[in-house]
Amino acid sequence: MSDALPLGATIGILGGGQLGRMLSLAASRLGFKTHIYCPDPDSPAFEVTPHKTVAAYDDRDALARFAAAVDVITYEFENVPADTAEFLAPLKPLRPGANALAVSQDRLVEKAFIAAAGIPVAPHRAIRDAADLAPALAELGGRGILKTTRLGYDGKGQRRVGSLAEAEAAFAALRPHPLVLEALVPFEREISVVIARGLDGATAAFDPAENVHRDGILATSTVPATMSAASTDLARGHAASIAAALAYVGVLGVEFFVLADGSLLVNEIAPRVHNSGHWTEAVCITDQFEQHIRAVAGWPLGDPTRLADVVMENLIGDAIHAIPNGLGPGVRPHAYGKTESRAGRKMGHLNRVASKTPRK
Ligand code: AMP
Repeated sequence: MSDALPLGATIGILGGGQLGRMLSLAASRLGFKTHIYCPDPDSPAFEVTPHKTVAAYDDRDALARFAAAVDVITYEFENVPADTAEFLAPLKPLRPGANALAVSQDRLVEKAFIAAAGIPVAPHRAIRDAADLAPALAELGGRGILKTTRLGYDGKGQRRVGSLAEAEAAFAALRPHPLVLEALVPFEREISVVIARGLDGATAAFDPAENVHRDGILATSTVPATMSAASTDLARGHAASIAAALAYVGVLGVEFFVLADGSLLVNEIAPRVHNSGHWTEAVCITDQFEQHIRAVAGWPLGDPTRLADVVMENLIGDAIHAIPNGLGPGVRPHAYGKTESRAGRKMGHLNRVASKTPRK
């Protein structure tokens, strides 16, 4: 493993949110140092990293100093500006690569890429101007979800539409254009697969999680998910195909819709550790954070085997007060150290651990 970073090497992380914080904790447990780069001085990851830079993502002097101070660069959010990634990539290894950002930053590019890999996505149409709405709506059954192609997250940047008038109003309200109109998928459930791919091309997928969203934000992830062994294998296979097609290094989240017949559509991918993988820290031999650090460090991947059943519950806004008040037996708490609790803000999570049920 000549490409493996030695103990004591420094991992640069773009982004200082809770994912950067959890990556930093995992990195230090493996004997690495981290250097977190984030424009926001109040970033939760700054509390747990030995090195930090507070600077804008387009500050080239600060980026150059950051690159010089680290051995490898990764990121905890997919909206790293393309210019930032292009500037950094020649200076130090950027893992996952800039192509993973380019694909995941644009819903139209993402769907085209996934479909080209032979994996089904929701029927959709590009909406470049208002005149595209009527034919697209007609083709997709008269209703759908109109989404921004860029910068949408946690249900922001999208609206359900059931008529041309609603679609026109949504088109006027949603920015930036172009948009994408997706058919309303009659899914039975939503699941995700978090998968790691190493520098040597080896992959390791965690068990699929069954996800419930509230107000567009992930509320719970339950493992095992209610799905057949065949769909489970299909989901893992699709995730591995996407990771391979991207020549990916690191942890990748792949969200799926499960239809009544057990078939799967990919909703979206995230080139980073994923909220629906937070359960792995409580019940897997290697969790997603360690797995990501191992991958970007060129280390062999760890064992993703799950040892127990689990429900991960996001603590949003004031729900953070479940720590410490709601901590019964089997509950593993994780608070992100954010001082200000706002409605809709992810403040922490709980993992409710139970004995493993045998796979049917
Ligand atoms: P997204 O930001 O694309 O992950 O969408 C947030 C949530 O909206 C998803 O997790 C689904 O619950 C729902 N949703 C998104 N797209 C569709 C669709 N095409 N059909 C039905 N529900 C959807």
